[in-house]
Amino acid sequence: MADIIKLLPDHVANQIAAGEVVQRPASVVKELMENSIDAGSTSIKLIIKDGGKTLIQVVDDGAGMSETDARLSFERHATSKISSAQDLFNLETKGFRGEALASIAAIAHVDMQTRTSSQEVGTHLKIEGSKVVSQDLVATPQGTSIAVKNLFFNIPARRNFLKSNQVELRHITDEFHRVAMVHPDIEFYFYNNGSEIFNLPRTKHRQRIVHIFGSKMEHRLVPVNEETEVVKISGFICKPEFAKKSRGEQFFFANNRFIKSPYLHHAVVAAFEGLIKPDTYPGYFLFLEVDPSSIDINIHPTKTEVKFDDENTLYAILRSTIKHSLGQFNVAPVLDFEHDPNLDTPYSYKEKGVVIPKVTVDAAFNPFQETPVNKSSGSNYRKQSTKGWEDMYEGLGHQNDHNDFSSVIIESESEVQGTLYSGKEVEEHLASTFQMRRKYVVSTVRSGMLVIHQNRAHERILFEKFLGEITVKEGVSQQLLFPLELTFSKQELAILMEIKESLTNIGFAFQSLEEETVKVTGVPMMVPESGIGTVLDRLIADYNEGYADGSISQAEMLAKALSRNLAVRTGEVLDQESQLTLVNNLFACKEPTLSPFQKITYTIISEGDIDKKFN
Ligand code: ADP
Ligand code: MG
Repeated sequence: MADIIKLLPDHVANQIAAGEVVQRPASVVKELMENSIDAGSTSIKLIIKDGGKTLIQVVDDGAGMSETDARLSFERHATSKISSAQDLFNLETKGFRGEALASIAAIAHVDMQTRTSSQEVGTHLKIEGSKVVSQDLVATPQGTSIAVKNLFFNIPARRNFLKSNQVELRHITDEFHRVAMVHPDIEFYFYNNGSEIFNLPRTKHRQRIVHIFGSKMEHRLVPVNEETEVVKISGFICKPEFAKKSRGEQFFFANNRFIKSPYLHHAVVAAFEGLIKPDTYPGYFLFLEVDPSSIDINIHPTKTEVKFDDENTLYAILRSTIKHSLGQFNVAPVLDFEHDPNLDTPYSYKEKGVVIPKVTVDAAFNPFQETPVNKSSGSNYRKQSTKGWEDMYEGLGHQNDHNDFSSVIIESESEVQGTLYSGKEVEEHLASTFQMRRKYVVSTVRSGMLVIHQNRAHERILFEKFLGEITVKEGVSQQLLFPLELTFSKQELAILMEIKESLTNIGFAFQSLEEETVKVTGVPMMVPESGIGTVLDRLIADYNEGYADGSISQAEMLAKALSRNLAVRTGEVLDQESQLTLVNNLFACKEPTLSPFQKITYTIISEGDIDKKFN
């Protein structure tokens, strides 16, 4: 049999290797910026077009490369950073594998101009798919400029796999933050499609964080400092009251390299225990310095997952350091520990004033009267199309007539003011409902007992409502007497711009979207003035998290986020009318059985099952 094993041609090997290094434009950004830092730059410019699909360019003022080095830098395993295996254990630089440039050049059009301080003229090199297309002399400032164009031009499958420009830009921005945050002594610029989105002057850590995340950060940061034999910790945590529902402002850096560590994250969260609500995350920017030989950064190709020699000790030190900072800076507990957060009123209900329930007794009520009391007096009810739902009630109407007691309860309690669903209809023939443990709304139906999960059901109702409004643009807006000025970070603003149209459709009105501040002039009917900031914050956070994977439409994502944030919570008391409306509106939904998050909204316990209990 003939020999069948062949060596892969270099360019194929490079393409395969590139898959490991370059997943998306953001990976190129990371590699190029890290090279610039390793080259001792003091100023780095990042230039992006079309989410990095058309152009990613990094311009630095670092050491530059000689003509030979410029050529060599694109060879696999060409690195100036290590020369022996021992060096691997004492790395101070970001790169060391010598494969980033080779990989990038295998899958893109690369244009490099570079000059060292000792050269008069620089080198201009063009490479396309690992092939050198041209090499010339060029007049260029000291430093290096590398432009990466048409990423994945020769691997259509990978190119098609890329997400929208906006999503790719967001990944790039994340990467930019991570690099910029650890190097406040370097100035950074970031241009996207010709406009400047970041201009970060040389400064200290704290100001760098503020420049990146917006001036609102200024008052949120609490410094953290600790030096032990094992680790030096510095950086900042955000005050507990600014803990967010989203992850995002959580950063660990080990020896100036961004890392992900669920274990250490847990240590931070543990230090905040009791100070923040269970479903929120504290913000933190923590810089750890450990002996380079005690950390293995080589276990993952993208190098964000690390292994520390003594993680347990690190955990303990980190947790107590943060506790100490929280105590030292008088960050007093802001939450009432005895208080069940589930019983919190959602913000849409806060500041609405206390409503004293008025119970009026129907004087005309006579339990022995044959004719039913008219439940609907005073309201103009309109029947909803609740086909199918009505079927469940078939046969109940008659029983109801004999059970007038329930109707009296409805009558009296519907006098309670401030219902959830102003102006909504209530089915006349609906049996009485009651609320169980402020969590379920219970009613009887033909086949048994109906138990509705109030939070999930309301999520479903709101989801369908908002989805409709976003697409049909029919949201009702409530104009604010005094426009509200809100401050956002740049990336929050970018997201806001992305979702602005949909938000306008559901009733938000923005007057100006400029430098960090946004004027809100109108909001949807459901959103109270006091909650606007929170709603927008959470919306942006939810959207950022959910949309990043790009698998669902913007409208759906937003409707989900809105429903999640505005739905009635578990723990909330619903008056009778709200309970009835909840039931009716749920069954008027297209998909009443599941919440937008695919959780069951109601169940029916059959009469048979109940009968069995009495056997
Ligand atoms: P690594 O960073 O792992 O060494 P790379 O492929 O990223 O490998 O880069 C190869 C080499 O090219 C580097 O070791 C460095 O010598 C040189 N190089 C890359 N980018 C720059 C730059 N911006 N300025 C100066 N030298 C650079
Ligand atoms: Mg490198």
